[in-house]
Amino acid sequence: AVVARDADAVRRLRDRTISPALSLSYERPLKIVAGEGAYLIAADGRRYLDMVNNVCHVGHCHPRVVEAITRQAARLNTNTRYLHDNLIEYTQRLARLLPSELSTVFLVNSGSEANDLALRLARAYTGGTDVMVLDHAYHGNLSSLIDISPYKFDGKGGAGRRRHVWVTEMPDLYRGRFRYGDADAGPRYAEKITTLLRDMNGISRRIAAFFVEAALGCGGQLVLPGGYLAAAFAEIRAAGGVCIADEVQIGFGRVGSDFWAFETQGVVPDIVTMGKPIGNGHPMGAVACRPEIAAAFANGMEYFNTFGGNPVSAAAGLTVLDIIRDERLMHNADALGAYLRDGFKALAERHALIGDIRGLGLFIGVELVRDRETLEPAAGELHAIVEAMKEAGVLLSTEGPHHNVLKIKPPLVITREDCDFFLEKLDEVMTRLG
Ligand code: PMP
Repeated sequence: AVVARDADAVRRLRDRTISPALSLSYERPLKIVAGEGAYLIAADGRRYLDMVNNVCHVGHCHPRVVEAITRQAARLNTNTRYLHDNLIEYTQRLARLLPSELSTVFLVNSGSEANDLALRLARAYTGGTDVMVLDHAYHGNLSSLIDISPYKFDGKGGAGRRRHVWVTEMPDLYRGRFRYGDADAGPRYAEKITTLLRDMNGISRRIAAFFVEAALGCGGQLVLPGGYLAAAFAEIRAAGGVCIADEVQIGFGRVGSDFWAFETQGVVPDIVTMGKPIGNGHPMGAVACRPEIAAAFANGMEYFNTFGGNPVSAAAGLTVLDIIRDERLMHNADALGAYLRDGFKALAERHALIGDIRGLGLFIGVELVRDRETLEPAAGELHAIVEAMKEAGVLLSTEGPHHNVLKIKPPLVITREDCDFFLEKLDEVMTRLG
């Protein structure tokens, strides 16, 4: 039987069987025992507004998702070697939400599995080996993906960049070489990719894929400048590579204006990878690609994934899509994202620490600096704010290469009252710590 223990006891016991490689949030970690909508409930009964979890997309423990999973689990759970309506219905629904070119869908169990499969698809189709990524990007926890994640291989414990990996600069309009107000910043940042492709060619290496998020997560909640992906994709394709949009953090309507973040850049990728929100917490991932790419991969070596595409996961995925539509959650993301950004702008007039406010829908970053001219990162200040916000009842996290970006990506079911509560608490905390 599972014994209910207090948070301190659980923390002590955790070290006996859980690796220290797994980190905990907060100086005094929370023991969370229940979730409901945009709220998490701790063992002591306290409710926290969850402004950072982008997995429970339609709200923690949404009753319709719980019901769909339960019902299907009670009837059948098996693999894709049998015909099943759920798999077909789900892949059709997903394909209809994507550009018509991306008609083949694979179901897997995580964002990492999706990106690893995308890499295999790209290599099979192009015959190339090499991968281009953006600096500070994270694409997953498998060996193949640690290798293409500067966030990991360049960080603590990282083994550095491997020969098949090429890192281009982040198009950062706040701190980078080309900044807000430069109408050509997008294509200008993409020129770096042209240079790297030339270097690659010079040593007879061939590109397989360009992995990119259409709004950067680990890079610091950055919105790409207009025209960046169009220019980058053209360069990559001219060199024989395919373009992979990693929508693991940002997909499924979070950006509000569109279902996929890549749509905000007006491009069609060759492969799209999905995870996190896709099953509202049920472990799932997906890859969509052009049928020619899938055909090159079907070279006689079978692809089998024990759990990927099982009827229970497909039921969870279908219900998430239904809820996004029925509860008009893209509209909520659009409206409340704008509302929050306006709220931050008002706060910026009183709090000099706020240097930059950016985002798409409910994918928002607020960058804190000690000086609006030098842009000196205010990492310690942000850490203290995030800790104090927890005490005030709001869960957040820090992000970015300088750890000075407040990361905001709540479930899409938050309300205007939740936003008001959050902004009011942030104002109080920043005034107090000021
Ligand atoms: N890609 C991106 C952009 C991610 O943020 C993550 C997870 N943080 C992954 C891939 C990997 O997903 P997962 O943890 O589900 O394997």
